[in-house]
Amino acid sequence: MIRQNTTLSLALLFLIPILSLGETQQTEVVFERYSSGTYLKPIPVYQVAQLNYIAVMDLAGAFEVNVFENAQVRKKVFRLNNLKIKLSAYTHYVMIDERVIQMPHPAIYQNEDIYLPLAAFSEILKHEKIVRNFHLIRGVPQTIPEIQQPAASIYNINNVQIVERANGVMIRIQTAKSFREASVKAWLNRKEWLYITIPGGQIDVVNFKEPPFPNDGTLRKMVVNQLDDVVQLSFRIAGDVESVDVLYGDYPAEVIVNLRKPYTIDSRHLLNKEREKWRIDKIVLDAGHGGKDSGTISPGGLQEKDVALDVVQRLGKLIQERTDVQVVYTRNSDVFIPLWERTKIANEAGGKLFVSVHVNASKNRSASGFETFLLRPGKSQEAIEVAELENSAVRLEEDQTRYGDLSSQQLILATMAQSAFMRNSETLAAQIQEEFDKELQGVNRGVKQAGFIVLIGASMPNVLVELGFLSNSRDESRLKRASYRQKAAEAIFQALIKYKTRHETLISAG
Ligand SMILES: [Zn+2]
Repeated sequence: MIRQNTTLSLALLFLIPILSLGETQQTEVVFERYSSGTYLKPIPVYQVAQLNYIAVMDLAGAFEVNVFENAQVRKKVFRLNNLKIKLSAYTHYVMIDERVIQMPHPAIYQNEDIYLPLAAFSEILKHEKIVRNFHLIRGVPQTIPEIQQPAASIYNINNVQIVERANGVMIRIQTAKSFREASVKAWLNRKEWLYITIPGGQIDVVNFKEPPFPNDGTLRKMVVNQLDDVVQLSFRIAGDVESVDVLYGDYPAEVIVNLRKPYTIDSRHLLNKEREKWRIDKIVLDAGHGGKDSGTISPGGLQEKDVALDVVQRLGKLIQERTDVQVVYTRNSDVFIPLWERTKIANEAGGKLFVSVHVNASKNRSASGFETFLLRPGKSQEAIEVAELENSAVRLEEDQTRYGDLSSQQLILATMAQSAFMRNSETLAAQIQEEFDKELQGVNRGVKQAGFIVLIGASMPNVLVELGFLSNSRDESRLKRASYRQKAAEAIFQALIKYKTRHETLISAG
């Protein structure tokens, strides 16, 4: 004990001169090795959307280990304490040996390096007994350096990468500036060509390097054209593409074109074991709020946390009594569970569906009815307000820094991380609304989308339902009745069963 303290104070003495340079020095972090208690060389800290990040190459440099990388799929691997640490850009996950550990924020990719959220990744290093602690040396906050451009370059379309995904292909067009406002268009011509036009784009047609195409064969050939001040990228496509979406990223600036393939599974290649993996055998039920977080409260004193828990317990009972599906509750009593922990529970339990149950409130007393939400950047002001209300539960959590600022770019990253489940989440949401419409009274407000923190990071199809408005007297009196809450549970149950049946029939039918 005494020895440790001495080491620490010596180290602090050593840090003081650096601290006093704070005015000019960039913010840095020092890791303390778990095994020896010695300090590693400080490494730079970068700020993105108010959250601290460190670069993988800096970290590996401090530990003096080699990094193996696969630039095409943006993965980096290195070893610390005989543990293999595998990192991928744009995901919430860190692989340690064969274990998957979730971070509340995804890794960022820029300048061919992966940037990790400092707080979350440091906790992982501590937990794995790689570092004992870490110390921030506060200085001037820096953002991740932009990609270096030749000073005189007129080109603003730098590079194209094609990434294979579970349900399609993602084309990432890295740009020198944001094209968010440029009305980039992407469309299919007779299922043979995909055209992407970027107004205001400038590309070096002569020196442009064609990206490697993924093995799935969706994209075959690429043609680059500069037409006046419009860049057109054309791709020869093969096989079915169901939809084309254009998204934008800011770190780095890029235009992302997502090609979604139809949902087909070739039964010839589907072994029984594989089929088992797809089977919906575990459903995670998340009763909103709990404990010190009551959620919204009606004028009559009815609390959201109680309604949510009661409906979830009724639903869980139906599932357990009528099916062989396992139920996992994020909470089964009146306790407080931070939002990030809810998806963590779901992922670690290996859930196949995630349903978060809530009731709503609005300043507008006449607002009423039921709706189901998907995780995506909010489209309407109303939807954004619902998400803000639900996300405000974060204020009651001890460590709020883990969420950072839920800016649009973070939300896009979070949405992208979930794109593999989006189609199924949509189907489930539509099914729930259909059943609510049969069972519940009041207005069917439909399926909507917004940035709900509780859904971020769920690696399974996920939805959030709002059963009604406690601010509306008619909805309140309905939600007060046990019989009505039972109907809500029945409706969600019917939706889950229909979804499960359809999903599993699709798989066995191939
Ligand atoms: Zn709620």
